[in-house]
Amino acid sequence: MRYLFFLLFTTFCFAQQTDVVDFLKISATVTPNAEKKLVKGDVSVSFNVLKKTDAVYLDAIAMTADKEHSDSLFSIAFTEDEIWIGGDFEPGYTYQASFSYTAAPKKALYFTEDQIWTQGQGKNTSHWLPSIDDMNDKIEFDLEFVTNNKATVISNGLLARMPDKDSLVDRLLKIEPEIPVSEINKIVDENYQPRWRFDMQKPMSSYLVAFAMGDFDKKELVSSSGVPIELYYRPQDSLKVEATYRYTKDIFDFLESKIGVPYPWQNYKQVPVRDFLYAGMENTGCTLFSEAFVVDEIGFNDKNYVNVNAHELAHQWFGNLITETEGTHHWLHEGFATYYALQAERAIFGEEYYYWKLYQSAEKLIAISNQGKGQSLLNPKASSLTFYEKGAWALHILNETVGDEVFDRAVKNYLNKHAFGNVTTEDFVNEIKTVSSVDISAWEKDWLQQTAFQANAVYESMLKSPFMTSLFDIMRLRNLPISEKKNELNRVLTFPTDFIGQEAILQLDDQPWDEVEFLYKKGMASNNLFVRQAIALQMDKIPDSFKVEFESLLDDDSYATKEAALMHLVTNFPSETSKYLDKIKDIEGFQDKNIRQQFLAYSLATRNYGAASKKELQDELVGYLSGLYSFEIREIAFGYINQLGMWDNNAVHYLINACTHHYWRFRNGARDLLDEKLKESSFRKTIQTIYGDLNEAEKEYLVRIGFNISVEKK
Ligand SMILES: [Zn+2]
Repeated sequence: MRYLFFLLFTTFCFAQQTDVVDFLKISATVTPNAEKKLVKGDVSVSFNVLKKTDAVYLDAIAMTADKEHSDSLFSIAFTEDEIWIGGDFEPGYTYQASFSYTAAPKKALYFTEDQIWTQGQGKNTSHWLPSIDDMNDKIEFDLEFVTNNKATVISNGLLARMPDKDSLVDRLLKIEPEIPVSEINKIVDENYQPRWRFDMQKPMSSYLVAFAMGDFDKKELVSSSGVPIELYYRPQDSLKVEATYRYTKDIFDFLESKIGVPYPWQNYKQVPVRDFLYAGMENTGCTLFSEAFVVDEIGFNDKNYVNVNAHELAHQWFGNLITETEGTHHWLHEGFATYYALQAERAIFGEEYYYWKLYQSAEKLIAISNQGKGQSLLNPKASSLTFYEKGAWALHILNETVGDEVFDRAVKNYLNKHAFGNVTTEDFVNEIKTVSSVDISAWEKDWLQQTAFQANAVYESMLKSPFMTSLFDIMRLRNLPISEKKNELNRVLTFPTDFIGQEAILQLDDQPWDEVEFLYKKGMASNNLFVRQAIALQMDKIPDSFKVEFESLLDDDSYATKEAALMHLVTNFPSETSKYLDKIKDIEGFQDKNIRQQFLAYSLATRNYGAASKKELQDELVGYLSGLYSFEIREIAFGYINQLGMWDNNAVHYLINACTHHYWRFRNGARDLLDEKLKESSFRKTIQTIYGDLNEAEKEYLVRIGFNISVEKK
């Protein structure tokens, strides 16, 4: 059957499908089945034919036809990667076809413990929803999701009102007045399946289609321009909402006014999801981001969502409203999102922060470039570092070259001119040239085409910041003996700023204690969180005369500081471990429970601490290895369990389970660890014991790596 279709449609392959047909709208009802890890869907698609043809297709990976649509006027055929719609299609006419499908997505749609979510970049939506991989065909998607009673569904567009249970009961009572109310209530209770229907008004590229399902509450805001903003969270994280989403409205208002083009979509939603593959994904009006950014007041100081929040929001213009025609122009998405996120952070955190981040990315880019591995911005295979950070630098330099007024006006024209369309680098450059009389040909050569990073231009630019000039002055002291620079470092540490203070502390490392003691004490007394954190991270040998001060780091409002301080204190003063553990025993830390897990591991390793509850402590730590927890939590737990050698039956099972996880980085780490452990016969014995409890995927993995249970049993 498949081959027949290939023969039928061979002529078609010579033309781009976008020249033949324009898909206008895809309406679909999608029903995920978490138990079977399947998706069923009913699709109605309308398309405008541009050239006479006998068939058009949607991308649809490994889908099967679900049921016959007797009303369909067209023949529908499923191949391995496509769904073909056959008919006599005449140019200038709009057609509509419908079909039903089942998909078992291997990627793009993920079922975690209690959530379902999608990730469509770059062309993966067709693994769960028939759509168009080519970014150049923008389509209006109206999706409806059928789910169980509990889950909240979040997707692109405006949620239509759903019929609630009561109104269904009323309706049934009218139709069937003879049936008693109690009976009707029972019927509705058993059969009620909420339908979450979302309406999009504007077209978008298919990779930006998304949904998330799970147990979520939301907080609602409205931007100054009146756009509804919904901030989702798991009910148990309600106390972290403020810190997690801090500055959201400021970021939204800032970007809308800076970009100068109104936010293009009906509303904006942000959803933290479990075990996400990236920091965030800018689905149209519906950003999904990693649950690791859900933080409390203290966590905010170390690891907050502000940058990712601004980055994904900036994409709603750069990427979503206007979309690259192809990978060559990918920096038009990532370079712009990175640059505008930096501008938002500049407005919130100030100039020093802005230049510090630019400086940090310049350091990375210079290092790569010096190895001869610099990449052109227009290389479609370039690294993220190039697309994101070199892209942002290119825009920073261009902005400096032409001035704010010209830059902002050109960006605004560029967005308006190509709104809901596709763009190339030339489209952007042309808008600059239209507005500005400044010659930018050198910029084009140095920043778009050149592979080497323009370190000199970057250095010149950074010197425009008084903060960077002072930082460079201090950095120049790095190679001087401490005796020659202590007065200068003393001056810096008297009223230290975040980054210059950190640099001063860095230069105290491995110096004779009597020369630097007063400087460390000054740094501690400054009460600057960053300066104190630098001390906590750096000092692995704590002199007795500094012990009391160092202990005070356990009270700092930073989980990174607490973790480092505890580690160094326990190593330096082991006899006082119990005192330190008591101090942190009620602290959880980041989303990955870094402090709680450190507490458990250190308690288990300390003979005289919590002797009565050792079993409980171990069970809790082993529990964090399981699939009930995020991979960030599991990763830390595997590290500690391995160090402690606590491989009980559950721990071994959870390690095999981790080898089947959907996230490659976590999965590979677990696989390496399992390979290591399989060298031990006691570990292999444990696998024999638990083999019957393993699920199919876990058993399959063991078979794949050559672990043969029947051989093991002999
Ligand atoms: Zn991005």
